[in-house]
Amino acid sequence: MGLQIESRCIHLETDDKEKRFGAISFPIYQTATFAHPGLGQSTGYDYSRVQNPTREHLEKKVASLECGKDAVAFSSGMAAILTVMDLFRPGDHLVVDSDLYGGSTRLFHTISEKNGITFTFIDFSRDDPEEVIRENTKAFFLETPTNPMMKVADIEKAAKIAHAHDALVIVDNTFLSPYLQNPLKLGADIVVHSGTKYLSGHNDTLAGFLVTDREDLSEKIRFSSKTTGANLSPFDSWLLLRGIQTLAIRMDRAQENAMVLAKWLKEQNHVERVIYPGLEEHPGHELMKRQARGFGAMLTFDVDSEEMIGKILNRIQVIQYAESLGGTESLLTYPLTQTHSDVPREVLAANGLTEKTLRMSVGIEHIDDLIADLEQALA
Ligand SMILES: *Cc1c(COP(=O)(O)O)cnc(C)c1O
Repeated sequence: MGLQIESRCIHLETDDKEKRFGAISFPIYQTATFAHPGLGQSTGYDYSRVQNPTREHLEKKVASLECGKDAVAFSSGMAAILTVMDLFRPGDHLVVDSDLYGGSTRLFHTISEKNGITFTFIDFSRDDPEEVIRENTKAFFLETPTNPMMKVADIEKAAKIAHAHDALVIVDNTFLSPYLQNPLKLGADIVVHSGTKYLSGHNDTLAGFLVTDREDLSEKIRFSSKTTGANLSPFDSWLLLRGIQTLAIRMDRAQENAMVLAKWLKEQNHVERVIYPGLEEHPGHELMKRQARGFGAMLTFDVDSEEMIGKILNRIQVIQYAESLGGTESLLTYPLTQTHSDVPREVLAANGLTEKTLRMSVGIEHIDDLIADLEQALA
């Protein structure tokens, strides 16, 4: 029917609603296995590691939101990223962004390198990947905007360069969610999500997704997921289905708050720098206007001293000091000791991340309460 994305958060376009009892909320099929009607027959489901109706319903929804052919749901974002790395073999080389989620960098440096895969780290917002491409380069892996420095990369341009060399483009789209950006439409081959963040939206469960519009990749990913088994449980799948229903209105409110806060923070004495792509002076502002439908609700700012960090984190009352992002609650994160503690200091410094940098996931509270809380914390 061609529904808008707000409606697709709530209704699947392909009609596989649970018809038997007219349940409006898709049931949680809390079963590990399925009985067969007879020899050589199947209900379509055999064993929940391979597929489960609740997970399948969620996967169809996420595939629809990302404009992909297939989405596979995992037990966390990292489980999804580990599975994507299973597409590569010893001797393969990847070009990845140097300012990624710290857990992705840790995975590449430890498990993937041990498995014989090598990496070149670049700044996709500035550097030309063409210059570091090698004979054995099999993929680019990037985030845009990046975590936490909010650098914006041109997905279409990266895809052109990668595809000219038969390499894949993998985009971690966690920060914007499919409501604001669809990398597959810009030429990416695989989209990664930490479903723990905006898709779930309530800081109550972990989840991850891989979405693709290529049949061959979907087959490989499904083979890995059924073989290794890091799939999302039926109950967690249901929590995600429930969270996604309000994705559009949560994102709208959160990014509206983020824009007001970014402008307000810029005027504060103890704040030295505010990085939010919605601000016109942000170097990625124009590019993001073209490739996304909004600027998201993540912002990063520097205060004037390390002491100030401690003061703010001790004083905040409405906003909470915690890792993670994308929930209804506003959270402040100190990347240096939390999300990015395993990334070498010199890499962080080169990206502009220091001991004075805070990252904020702006929630959907009333903007006046967020400002009042930061005002007393920054005093
Ligand atoms: C949180 C996060 C991840 C990891 O996801 P988990 O669900 O925590 O395993 C990956 N990428 C980005 C951008 C993230 O924010």
